[in-house]
Amino acid sequence: MPSGSEPVVGVARSVALVGLRAVDVTVEVSISAGLPCFSLIGTTGTAGRQAGERVRAALHATGIRLPSRKILASLAPADVPTSGARFDLALAAALLVRLGAVASSALTDAAFLGELALDGTVRAVSGVLPAAAHLAAAGVDRLFVADDNVREASLASGIGVIAVGDLSELLAILDGAAHPRALPARPPPAAADVADLADVRGQAEARRALEIAAAGGHHLLLLGPPGCGKSMLAARLVGVLPSLTEQAALELTAIRSVAGLLAGTAPITLDRTPPLRAPHHATTAAALLGGGGGVARPGEISLATHGVLFMDELFEWPRRLLDALREPLEQGTVRIARAQATVCYPAAFQLVCAANPCPCGGAGTCDCTDAEVWTYRRRLSGPLADRIDLAPRLSALEAGHLVDATPGEPSHTVAARVRTAREVARERWGVVNRLASAEPVRATARPAALRTLGRAVESGALSGRGFDRALRVARTCADLAGDDQVDREHVLEALAHRAALRAARVAR
Ligand SMILES: [Zn+2]
Repeated sequence: MPSGSEPVVGVARSVALVGLRAVDVTVEVSISAGLPCFSLIGTTGTAGRQAGERVRAALHATGIRLPSRKILASLAPADVPTSGARFDLALAAALLVRLGAVASSALTDAAFLGELALDGTVRAVSGVLPAAAHLAAAGVDRLFVADDNVREASLASGIGVIAVGDLSELLAILDGAAHPRALPARPPPAAADVADLADVRGQAEARRALEIAAAGGHHLLLLGPPGCGKSMLAARLVGVLPSLTEQAALELTAIRSVAGLLAGTAPITLDRTPPLRAPHHATTAAALLGGGGGVARPGEISLATHGVLFMDELFEWPRRLLDALREPLEQGTVRIARAQATVCYPAAFQLVCAANPCPCGGAGTCDCTDAEVWTYRRRLSGPLADRIDLAPRLSALEAGHLVDATPGEPSHTVAARVRTAREVARERWGVVNRLASAEPVRATARPAALRTLGRAVESGALSGRGFDRALRVARTCADLAGDDQVDREHVLEALAHRAALRAARVAR
Protein backbone atom coordinates (compact mmCIF):
# COMPACT_ATOMS: atom_id res chain seq x y z
CA MET A 1 0.00 0.00 0.00
CA PRO A 2 1.60 3.28 -1.05
CA SER A 3 1.89 5.38 2.08
CA GLY A 4 1.58 9.12 2.33
CA SER A 5 0.31 9.33 -1.24
CA GLU A 6 -3.43 9.43 -0.68
CA PRO A 7 -4.97 11.80 -3.22
CA VAL A 8 -7.68 14.21 -2.19
CA VAL A 9 -10.15 12.53 -4.46
CA GLY A 10 -10.24 9.12 -6.09
CA VAL A 11 -11.44 9.16 -9.68
CA ALA A 12 -12.61 6.26 -11.87
CA ARG A 13 -14.24 6.04 -15.27
CA SER A 14 -17.47 4.28 -16.22
CA VAL A 15 -20.18 4.46 -18.88
CA ALA A 16 -23.94 5.11 -18.75
CA LEU A 17 -26.31 4.15 -21.55
CA VAL A 18 -29.21 6.17 -22.88
CA GLY A 19 -30.78 3.72 -25.28
CA LEU A 20 -27.86 2.55 -27.38
CA ARG A 21 -25.96 5.80 -26.81
CA ALA A 22 -23.03 5.49 -24.42
CA VAL A 23 -22.15 8.45 -22.21
CA ASP A 24 -18.93 8.82 -20.20
CA VAL A 25 -19.45 8.93 -16.45
CA THR A 26 -16.80 10.11 -14.00
CA VAL A 27 -17.00 8.67 -10.49
CA GLU A 28 -15.29 10.77 -7.81
CA VAL A 29 -14.85 9.91 -4.15
CA SER A 30 -13.65 12.17 -1.34
CA ILE A 31 -13.21 11.50 2.37
CA SER A 32 -13.29 14.32 4.85
CA ALA A 33 -13.80 15.10 8.51
CA GLY A 34 -17.41 15.03 9.59
CA LEU A 35 -20.08 12.71 10.80
CA PRO A 36 -19.44 9.19 9.48
CA CYS A 37 -21.65 8.64 6.45
CA PHE A 38 -21.58 7.53 2.83
CA SER A 39 -23.34 10.05 0.58
CA LEU A 40 -23.91 9.68 -3.14
CA ILE A 41 -24.59 12.57 -5.49
CA GLY A 42 -25.89 12.20 -9.00
CA THR A 43 -27.39 8.73 -8.79
CA THR A 44 -31.02 7.98 -9.41
CA GLY A 45 -33.28 5.09 -8.54
CA THR A 46 -33.17 2.78 -5.54
CA ALA A 47 -30.33 0.59 -6.84
CA GLY A 48 -28.22 3.68 -7.49
CA ARG A 49 -28.87 5.22 -4.08
CA GLN A 50 -27.98 1.95 -2.36
CA ALA A 51 -24.63 1.72 -4.15
CA GLY A 52 -22.84 3.14 -1.10
CA GLU A 53 -24.10 0.35 1.14
CA ARG A 54 -23.18 -2.35 -1.38
CA VAL A 55 -19.69 -0.95 -1.90
CA ARG A 56 -19.11 -0.58 1.85
CA ALA A 57 -20.18 -4.20 2.49
CA ALA A 58 -18.16 -5.53 -0.47
CA LEU A 59 -15.01 -3.72 0.70
CA HIS A 60 -15.55 -4.99 4.23
CA ALA A 61 -15.84 -8.56 2.92
CA THR A 62 -12.53 -7.99 1.10
CA GLY A 63 -10.87 -6.96 4.35
CA ILE A 64 -10.92 -3.22 3.75
CA ARG A 65 -12.65 -1.10 6.39
CA LEU A 66 -13.83 2.36 5.50
CA PRO A 67 -12.74 5.08 7.93
CA SER A 68 -15.36 6.50 10.29
CA ARG A 69 -15.45 9.77 8.41
CA LYS A 70 -17.61 11.50 5.85
CA ILE A 71 -17.43 9.75 2.47
CA LEU A 72 -18.81 11.65 -0.48
CA ALA A 73 -19.15 10.08 -3.92
CA SER A 74 -20.44 11.77 -7.06
CA LEU A 75 -21.37 10.60 -10.52
CA ALA A 76 -20.99 13.19 -13.27
CA PRO A 77 -22.48 14.48 -15.47
CA ALA A 78 -25.54 14.82 -13.26
CA ASP A 79 -28.04 14.98 -16.15
CA VAL A 80 -27.29 11.44 -17.35
CA PRO A 81 -29.55 8.66 -16.03
CA THR A 82 -27.41 6.75 -13.56
CA SER A 83 -29.91 4.33 -12.09
CA GLY A 84 -28.96 0.74 -11.44
CA ALA A 85 -25.89 -0.81 -9.97
CA ARG A 86 -23.56 -0.68 -13.00
CA PHE A 87 -21.29 1.94 -11.36
CA ASP A 88 -20.51 -0.11 -8.21
CA LEU A 89 -17.18 -1.36 -9.55
CA ALA A 90 -16.04 2.14 -10.60
CA LEU A 91 -17.09 3.44 -7.20
CA ALA A 92 -15.04 0.77 -5.44
CA ALA A 93 -12.02 1.47 -7.68
CA ALA A 94 -12.21 5.21 -6.94
CA LEU A 95 -12.45 4.46 -3.21
CA LEU A 96 -9.42 2.15 -3.39
CA VAL A 97 -7.46 5.04 -4.92
CA ARG A 98 -8.71 7.52 -2.33
CA LEU A 99 -7.79 5.14 0.48
CA GLY A 100 -4.29 4.77 -0.96
CA ALA A 101 -4.73 1.04 -1.52
CA VAL A 102 -4.11 1.55 -5.22
CA ALA A 103 -2.06 4.19 -7.05
CA SER A 104 -4.16 6.58 -9.12
CA SER A 105 -1.92 5.81 -12.11
CA ALA A 106 -3.28 2.23 -12.03
CA LEU A 107 -6.61 3.59 -13.23
CA THR A 108 -5.21 5.54 -16.17
CA ASP A 109 -6.90 4.51 -19.43
CA ALA A 110 -9.10 2.06 -17.53
CA ALA A 111 -12.88 1.88 -17.15
CA PHE A 112 -15.12 -0.16 -14.86
CA LEU A 113 -18.56 -1.70 -15.31
CA GLY A 114 -20.11 -4.06 -12.80
CA GLU A 115 -22.42 -4.52 -9.85
CA LEU A 116 -21.11 -5.61 -6.46
CA ALA A 117 -22.65 -8.27 -4.28
CA LEU A 118 -22.34 -7.81 -0.52
CA ASP A 119 -19.63 -10.49 -0.37
CA GLY A 120 -17.47 -8.63 -2.90
CA THR A 121 -18.42 -10.73 -5.94
CA VAL A 122 -18.66 -8.76 -9.19
CA ARG A 123 -21.93 -9.27 -11.06
CA ALA A 124 -22.76 -8.80 -14.74
CA VAL A 125 -24.67 -5.74 -15.97
CA SER A 126 -26.52 -5.08 -19.24
CA GLY A 127 -25.31 -3.02 -22.18
CA VAL A 128 -21.62 -3.91 -21.87
CA LEU A 129 -21.06 -4.28 -25.63
CA PRO A 130 -22.12 -0.74 -26.68
CA ALA A 131 -20.22 0.61 -23.65
CA ALA A 132 -17.06 -1.31 -24.62
CA ALA A 133 -17.32 -0.16 -28.25
CA HIS A 134 -17.66 3.45 -27.07
CA LEU A 135 -14.65 3.17 -24.75
CA ALA A 136 -12.54 1.59 -27.48
CA ALA A 137 -13.39 4.47 -29.82
CA ALA A 138 -12.43 6.92 -27.06
CA GLY A 139 -9.00 5.31 -26.74
CA VAL A 140 -9.53 3.61 -23.37
CA ASP A 141 -7.14 0.64 -23.06
CA ARG A 142 -8.71 -1.60 -20.44
CA LEU A 143 -12.25 -2.43 -19.34
CA PHE A 144 -12.83 -4.27 -16.06
CA VAL A 145 -16.03 -6.35 -16.06
CA ALA A 146 -17.62 -9.37 -14.36
CA ASP A 147 -16.80 -12.85 -15.66
CA ASP A 148 -20.26 -13.14 -17.18
CA ASN A 149 -19.72 -9.97 -19.23
CA VAL A 150 -16.34 -10.96 -20.70
CA ARG A 151 -17.55 -12.69 -23.86
CA GLU A 152 -19.87 -9.83 -24.68
CA ALA A 153 -17.28 -7.11 -24.04
CA SER A 154 -14.77 -9.01 -26.19
CA LEU A 155 -17.00 -8.54 -29.25
CA ALA A 156 -15.83 -4.90 -29.29
CA SER A 157 -12.43 -4.68 -30.92
CA GLY A 158 -9.66 -2.37 -29.79
CA ILE A 159 -10.01 -2.62 -26.02
CA GLY A 160 -8.50 -5.03 -23.52
CA VAL A 161 -11.13 -6.80 -21.45
CA ILE A 162 -10.17 -7.80 -17.92
CA ALA A 163 -12.34 -10.20 -15.92
CA VAL A 164 -12.65 -9.62 -12.19
CA GLY A 165 -14.44 -12.26 -10.15
CA ASP A 166 -14.48 -10.22 -6.97
CA LEU A 167 -13.02 -7.12 -5.33
CA SER A 168 -9.92 -9.00 -4.07
CA GLU A 169 -9.03 -9.82 -7.67
CA LEU A 170 -9.62 -6.21 -8.72
CA LEU A 171 -7.34 -5.00 -5.94
CA ALA A 172 -4.63 -7.56 -6.79
CA ILE A 173 -4.63 -6.61 -10.50
CA LEU A 174 -4.68 -2.86 -9.85
CA ASP A 175 -1.76 -2.92 -7.39
CA GLY A 176 0.23 -5.27 -9.61
CA ALA A 177 0.14 -8.32 -7.31
CA ALA A 178 -1.67 -10.41 -9.94
CA HIS A 179 -1.86 -10.54 -13.70
CA PRO A 180 -5.19 -10.43 -15.50
CA ARG A 181 -6.46 -13.88 -16.33
CA ALA A 182 -6.13 -15.14 -19.88
CA LEU A 183 -9.50 -14.81 -21.59
CA PRO A 184 -11.26 -17.82 -23.05
CA ALA A 185 -10.64 -18.19 -26.76
CA ARG A 186 -13.44 -16.95 -28.94
CA PRO A 187 -15.29 -19.97 -30.34
CA PRO A 188 -15.59 -20.34 -34.11
CA PRO A 189 -18.91 -19.04 -35.50
CA ALA A 190 -21.54 -21.72 -35.09
CA ALA A 191 -23.69 -22.65 -38.05
CA ALA A 192 -27.06 -21.05 -37.51
CA ASP A 193 -29.84 -23.50 -36.84
CA VAL A 194 -32.53 -22.15 -39.14
CA ALA A 195 -35.41 -24.23 -40.44
CA ASP A 196 -35.26 -25.06 -44.16
CA LEU A 197 -37.85 -24.34 -46.84
CA ALA A 198 -37.37 -27.89 -48.11
CA ASP A 199 -39.64 -28.97 -45.22
CA VAL A 200 -42.57 -27.04 -46.71
CA ARG A 201 -44.55 -29.17 -49.14
CA GLY A 202 -46.98 -27.57 -51.56
CA GLN A 203 -48.07 -23.94 -50.98
CA ALA A 204 -46.38 -22.82 -54.22
CA GLU A 205 -48.06 -19.40 -54.18
CA ALA A 206 -47.03 -18.68 -50.59
CA ARG A 207 -43.48 -19.89 -51.21
CA ARG A 208 -43.18 -17.54 -54.17
CA ALA A 209 -44.59 -14.63 -52.11
CA LEU A 210 -42.06 -15.42 -49.38
CA GLU A 211 -39.24 -15.23 -51.93
CA ILE A 212 -40.49 -11.89 -53.27
CA ALA A 213 -40.86 -10.58 -49.70
CA ALA A 214 -37.29 -11.63 -48.91
CA ALA A 215 -35.89 -10.11 -52.11
CA GLY A 216 -37.63 -6.74 -51.73
CA GLY A 217 -37.98 -6.47 -47.95
CA HIS A 218 -41.76 -6.36 -48.38
CA HIS A 219 -44.20 -6.87 -45.52
CA LEU A 220 -46.19 -10.07 -45.77
CA LEU A 221 -49.56 -11.34 -44.57
CA LEU A 222 -50.19 -15.07 -44.62
CA LEU A 223 -53.92 -15.72 -44.64
CA GLY A 224 -55.02 -19.33 -44.38
CA PRO A 225 -56.78 -21.96 -42.30
CA PRO A 226 -55.16 -23.47 -39.19
CA GLY A 227 -52.52 -26.09 -39.91
CA CYS A 228 -51.74 -24.92 -43.43
CA GLY A 229 -48.16 -24.00 -42.48
CA LYS A 230 -48.29 -20.24 -41.81
CA SER A 231 -45.91 -20.33 -38.83
CA MET A 232 -43.72 -22.84 -40.66
CA LEU A 233 -43.35 -20.48 -43.63
CA ALA A 234 -42.75 -17.40 -41.48
CA ALA A 235 -39.97 -19.16 -39.55
CA ARG A 236 -38.24 -19.94 -42.84
CA LEU A 237 -38.07 -16.36 -44.10
CA VAL A 238 -34.88 -15.60 -42.14
CA GLY A 239 -33.25 -18.63 -43.79
CA VAL A 240 -33.53 -17.03 -47.24
CA LEU A 241 -32.48 -13.53 -46.16
CA PRO A 242 -28.81 -12.57 -46.66
CA SER A 243 -26.51 -12.77 -43.63
CA LEU A 244 -26.17 -9.53 -41.70
CA THR A 245 -23.27 -7.20 -42.45
CA GLU A 246 -20.80 -6.76 -39.60
CA GLN A 247 -22.23 -3.32 -38.87
CA ALA A 248 -25.80 -4.63 -38.72
CA ALA A 249 -24.75 -7.62 -36.61
CA LEU A 250 -22.95 -5.32 -34.15
CA GLU A 251 -25.98 -3.04 -33.87
CA LEU A 252 -28.29 -5.98 -33.24
CA THR A 253 -25.90 -7.45 -30.67
CA ALA A 254 -25.76 -4.07 -28.91
CA ILE A 255 -29.57 -4.06 -28.71
CA ARG A 256 -29.50 -7.57 -27.22
CA SER A 257 -26.82 -6.40 -24.82
CA VAL A 258 -28.90 -3.46 -23.57
CA ALA A 259 -31.89 -5.81 -23.27
CA GLY A 260 -29.75 -7.92 -20.94
CA LEU A 261 -29.92 -11.00 -23.17
CA LEU A 262 -26.17 -11.59 -23.51
CA ALA A 263 -24.83 -11.83 -19.95
CA GLY A 264 -23.62 -15.32 -19.15
CA THR A 265 -20.66 -17.52 -19.80
CA ALA A 266 -22.13 -19.21 -22.86
CA PRO A 267 -19.95 -18.65 -25.92
CA ILE A 268 -20.89 -15.55 -27.85
CA THR A 269 -19.87 -14.91 -31.41
CA LEU A 270 -21.10 -12.11 -33.57
CA ASP A 271 -24.36 -13.58 -34.83
CA ARG A 272 -24.89 -12.85 -38.53
CA THR A 273 -28.25 -14.59 -38.76
CA PRO A 274 -31.16 -12.15 -39.20
CA PRO A 275 -33.32 -12.31 -36.06
CA LEU A 276 -36.82 -13.77 -35.93
CA ARG A 277 -38.99 -12.50 -33.08
CA ALA A 278 -42.47 -13.88 -32.56
CA PRO A 279 -44.21 -12.13 -29.65
CA HIS A 280 -47.62 -13.41 -28.56
CA HIS A 281 -50.73 -11.27 -29.07
CA ALA A 282 -51.19 -11.11 -25.28
CA THR A 283 -47.80 -9.39 -24.89
CA THR A 284 -47.57 -6.02 -23.13
CA ALA A 285 -46.87 -2.75 -24.88
CA ALA A 286 -43.58 -2.49 -22.96
CA ALA A 287 -42.44 -5.93 -24.10
CA LEU A 288 -43.42 -5.25 -27.71
CA LEU A 289 -42.31 -1.64 -28.13
CA GLY A 290 -39.77 -1.23 -25.34
CA GLY A 291 -40.16 0.13 -21.84
CA GLY A 292 -39.73 -0.77 -18.20
CA GLY A 293 -38.58 1.30 -15.26
CA GLY A 294 -35.71 3.77 -15.38
CA VAL A 295 -34.24 4.01 -18.86
CA ALA A 296 -36.50 2.05 -21.21
CA ARG A 297 -35.19 -1.26 -22.48
CA PRO A 298 -35.62 -2.34 -26.08
CA GLY A 299 -38.70 -4.39 -26.94
CA GLU A 300 -39.47 -7.11 -29.48
CA ILE A 301 -39.64 -4.69 -32.42
CA SER A 302 -36.07 -3.57 -31.71
CA LEU A 303 -34.84 -7.11 -31.13
CA ALA A 304 -36.27 -7.86 -34.61
CA THR A 305 -34.15 -5.12 -36.22
CA HIS A 306 -32.49 -6.29 -39.46
CA GLY A 307 -34.76 -9.33 -39.32
CA VAL A 308 -38.35 -10.44 -39.06
CA LEU A 309 -41.15 -9.62 -36.63
CA PHE A 310 -43.73 -12.40 -36.84
CA MET A 311 -47.21 -11.56 -35.55
CA ASP A 312 -49.31 -14.71 -35.52
CA GLU A 313 -53.10 -14.54 -35.11
CA LEU A 314 -53.03 -10.93 -36.26
CA PHE A 315 -56.75 -10.36 -35.68
CA GLU A 316 -56.32 -11.23 -31.99
CA TRP A 317 -53.88 -8.37 -31.42
CA PRO A 318 -55.28 -5.35 -29.56
CA ARG A 319 -55.85 -2.38 -31.82
CA ARG A 320 -53.72 -0.06 -29.66
CA LEU A 321 -50.65 -2.29 -30.19
CA LEU A 322 -51.24 -2.43 -33.96
CA ASP A 323 -51.62 1.36 -34.06
CA ALA A 324 -48.43 1.77 -32.05
CA LEU A 325 -46.54 -0.03 -34.82
CA ARG A 326 -47.36 2.77 -37.26
CA GLU A 327 -44.41 4.98 -36.37
CA PRO A 328 -41.79 2.18 -36.20
CA LEU A 329 -43.01 0.87 -39.58
CA GLU A 330 -42.71 4.37 -41.03
CA GLN A 331 -39.44 5.47 -39.39
CA GLY A 332 -37.56 2.25 -38.70
CA THR A 333 -37.06 3.48 -35.14
CA VAL A 334 -39.08 3.69 -31.93
CA ARG A 335 -39.02 6.51 -29.38
CA ILE A 336 -39.86 5.68 -25.79
CA ALA A 337 -40.41 8.54 -23.36
CA ARG A 338 -39.65 7.98 -19.69
CA ALA A 339 -39.22 10.35 -16.78
CA GLN A 340 -35.45 9.84 -16.80
CA ALA A 341 -34.80 10.04 -20.51
CA THR A 342 -36.41 9.64 -23.90
CA VAL A 343 -34.59 6.94 -25.76
CA CYS A 344 -34.67 5.96 -29.40
CA TYR A 345 -33.99 2.40 -30.49
CA PRO A 346 -33.71 0.96 -33.99
CA ALA A 347 -36.86 -0.92 -35.06
CA ALA A 348 -36.19 -1.64 -38.72
CA PHE A 349 -37.89 -4.98 -39.10
CA GLN A 350 -39.71 -6.81 -41.85
CA LEU A 351 -43.26 -7.63 -40.79
CA VAL A 352 -44.79 -11.04 -41.33
CA CYS A 353 -48.35 -11.47 -40.10
CA ALA A 354 -50.51 -14.57 -40.10
CA ALA A 355 -54.23 -14.94 -39.58
CA ASN A 356 -57.10 -17.32 -40.05
CA PRO A 357 -59.39 -16.13 -42.85
CA CYS A 358 -62.46 -16.04 -40.61
CA PRO A 359 -63.41 -16.13 -36.91
CA CYS A 360 -64.17 -19.87 -36.86
CA GLY A 361 -60.69 -20.66 -38.16
CA GLY A 362 -61.88 -21.13 -41.71
CA ALA A 363 -60.97 -24.76 -42.16
CA GLY A 364 -63.45 -26.87 -44.03
CA THR A 365 -67.13 -25.98 -43.68
CA CYS A 366 -67.91 -22.62 -42.17
CA ASP A 367 -71.15 -21.11 -40.88
CA CYS A 368 -69.80 -17.59 -40.38
CA THR A 369 -71.98 -14.86 -41.89
CA ASP A 370 -70.54 -12.22 -44.19
CA ALA A 371 -71.03 -9.67 -41.40
CA GLU A 372 -69.08 -11.78 -38.92
CA VAL A 373 -66.22 -12.25 -41.34
CA TRP A 374 -66.24 -8.56 -42.20
CA THR A 375 -66.15 -7.50 -38.54
CA TYR A 376 -63.33 -9.93 -37.90
CA ARG A 377 -61.19 -8.77 -40.79
CA ARG A 378 -61.94 -5.12 -40.23
CA ARG A 379 -59.37 -5.24 -37.42
CA LEU A 380 -56.77 -5.27 -40.14
CA SER A 381 -58.00 -2.06 -41.70
CA GLY A 382 -56.13 1.19 -41.34
CA PRO A 383 -52.43 1.94 -41.09
CA LEU A 384 -51.18 -1.62 -40.71
CA ALA A 385 -53.09 -2.95 -43.72
CA ASP A 386 -51.76 -0.05 -45.77
CA ARG A 387 -48.26 -1.32 -45.18
CA ILE A 388 -48.78 -4.94 -46.15
CA ASP A 389 -47.39 -5.56 -49.61
CA LEU A 390 -48.01 -9.25 -50.15
CA ALA A 391 -50.88 -11.44 -49.01
CA PRO A 392 -50.78 -14.79 -50.76
CA ARG A 393 -53.59 -17.31 -50.39
CA LEU A 394 -52.72 -20.43 -48.48
CA SER A 395 -54.75 -23.54 -49.02
CA ALA A 396 -55.59 -26.18 -46.47
CA LEU A 397 -52.98 -28.87 -46.88
CA GLU A 398 -54.13 -31.37 -49.42
CA ALA A 399 -53.73 -34.98 -48.46
CA GLY A 400 -51.36 -35.48 -51.39
CA HIS A 401 -48.85 -33.02 -49.96
CA LEU A 402 -48.61 -34.85 -46.66
CA VAL A 403 -47.50 -38.09 -48.27
CA ASP A 404 -45.66 -36.46 -51.16
CA ALA A 405 -42.04 -37.49 -50.66
CA THR A 406 -40.71 -34.73 -52.91
CA PRO A 407 -39.27 -32.02 -50.68
CA GLY A 408 -39.70 -28.34 -51.56
CA GLU A 409 -36.87 -26.29 -53.01
CA PRO A 410 -34.23 -25.84 -50.28
CA SER A 411 -33.58 -22.49 -48.62
CA HIS A 412 -30.05 -22.06 -49.99
CA THR A 413 -31.30 -22.18 -53.61
CA VAL A 414 -33.96 -19.56 -52.90
CA ALA A 415 -31.47 -17.50 -50.85
CA ALA A 416 -29.10 -17.30 -53.85
CA ARG A 417 -31.85 -15.72 -56.02
CA VAL A 418 -32.82 -13.40 -53.18
CA ARG A 419 -29.21 -12.28 -52.71
CA THR A 420 -28.79 -11.49 -56.41
CA ALA A 421 -32.03 -9.49 -56.56
CA ARG A 422 -31.11 -7.56 -53.40
CA GLU A 423 -27.70 -6.68 -54.82
CA VAL A 424 -29.34 -5.31 -57.98
CA ALA A 425 -31.67 -3.14 -55.87
CA ARG A 426 -28.86 -1.94 -53.63
CA GLU A 427 -26.76 -0.92 -56.61
CA ARG A 428 -29.75 0.86 -58.12
CA TRP A 429 -30.92 2.90 -55.09
CA GLY A 430 -28.94 1.77 -52.07
CA VAL A 431 -31.89 0.21 -50.24
CA VAL A 432 -34.31 -2.69 -50.64
CA ASN A 433 -37.17 -2.03 -53.06
CA ARG A 434 -39.74 -1.48 -50.25
CA LEU A 435 -37.78 1.59 -49.13
CA ALA A 436 -37.14 3.03 -52.60
CA SER A 437 -38.73 6.39 -53.53
CA ALA A 438 -41.81 6.20 -55.75
CA GLU A 439 -40.63 8.33 -58.69
CA PRO A 440 -37.42 6.44 -59.51
CA VAL A 441 -39.30 3.13 -59.34
CA ARG A 442 -41.95 4.46 -61.75
CA ALA A 443 -39.16 5.52 -64.08
CA THR A 444 -38.08 1.88 -64.46
CA ALA A 445 -41.57 0.69 -65.48
CA ARG A 446 -42.81 0.23 -69.05
CA PRO A 447 -45.96 2.17 -70.02
CA ALA A 448 -47.97 -1.06 -70.24
CA ALA A 449 -47.06 -1.88 -66.64
CA LEU A 450 -48.17 1.55 -65.40
CA ARG A 451 -51.41 1.32 -67.44
CA THR A 452 -52.22 -2.03 -65.84
CA LEU A 453 -51.73 -0.57 -62.38
CA GLY A 454 -53.78 2.48 -63.34
CA ARG A 455 -56.67 0.26 -64.38
CA ALA A 456 -56.46 -1.58 -61.02
CA VAL A 457 -56.87 1.78 -59.27
CA GLU A 458 -59.78 2.77 -61.55
CA SER A 459 -61.57 -0.49 -60.81
CA GLY A 460 -61.15 0.09 -57.09
CA ALA A 461 -58.92 -2.96 -56.66
CA LEU A 462 -56.06 -0.72 -55.57
CA SER A 463 -55.83 2.60 -53.72
CA GLY A 464 -53.65 5.48 -54.88
CA ARG A 465 -51.27 4.58 -52.10
CA GLY A 466 -51.42 0.93 -53.09
CA PHE A 467 -50.29 1.92 -56.60
CA ASP A 468 -46.69 2.53 -55.60
CA ARG A 469 -46.62 -0.30 -53.07
CA ALA A 470 -47.72 -2.76 -55.75
CA LEU A 471 -45.26 -1.24 -58.21
CA ARG A 472 -42.38 -1.78 -55.78
CA VAL A 473 -43.41 -5.43 -55.45
CA ALA A 474 -43.51 -5.67 -59.26
CA ARG A 475 -40.02 -4.10 -59.30
CA THR A 476 -38.85 -6.98 -57.07
CA CYS A 477 -40.51 -9.55 -59.37
CA ALA A 478 -38.59 -7.98 -62.27
CA ASP A 479 -35.33 -8.08 -60.28
CA LEU A 480 -35.85 -11.77 -59.50
CA ALA A 481 -36.35 -12.34 -63.23
CA GLY A 482 -33.26 -10.29 -64.06
CA ASP A 483 -35.24 -7.66 -66.00
CA ASP A 484 -34.19 -4.00 -66.01
CA GLN A 485 -37.72 -2.81 -66.77
CA VAL A 486 -40.91 -3.54 -64.87
CA ASP A 487 -43.28 -5.13 -67.34
CA ARG A 488 -46.98 -5.91 -67.33
CA GLU A 489 -46.36 -9.52 -66.28
CA HIS A 490 -44.51 -8.35 -63.14
CA VAL A 491 -47.38 -6.04 -62.23
CA LEU A 492 -49.89 -8.84 -62.74
CA GLU A 493 -47.90 -11.06 -60.41
CA ALA A 494 -47.69 -8.33 -57.78
CA LEU A 495 -51.45 -7.79 -58.00
CA ALA A 496 -52.13 -11.52 -57.78
CA HIS A 497 -50.19 -11.70 -54.54
CA ARG A 498 -52.45 -9.01 -53.06
CA ALA A 499 -55.54 -11.04 -53.85
CA ALA A 500 -56.11 -12.11 -50.28
CA LEU A 501 -56.08 -8.48 -49.16
CA ARG A 502 -58.67 -7.60 -51.81
CA ALA A 503 -60.80 -10.57 -50.84
CA ALA A 504 -60.80 -9.25 -47.31
CA ARG A 505 -62.29 -6.02 -48.65
CA VAL A 506 -59.85 -4.08 -46.54
CA ALA A 507 -56.62 -2.27 -47.28
CA ARG A 508 -57.61 -1.40 -50.80
ZN1 LIG B 1 -65.92 -19.18 -40.49
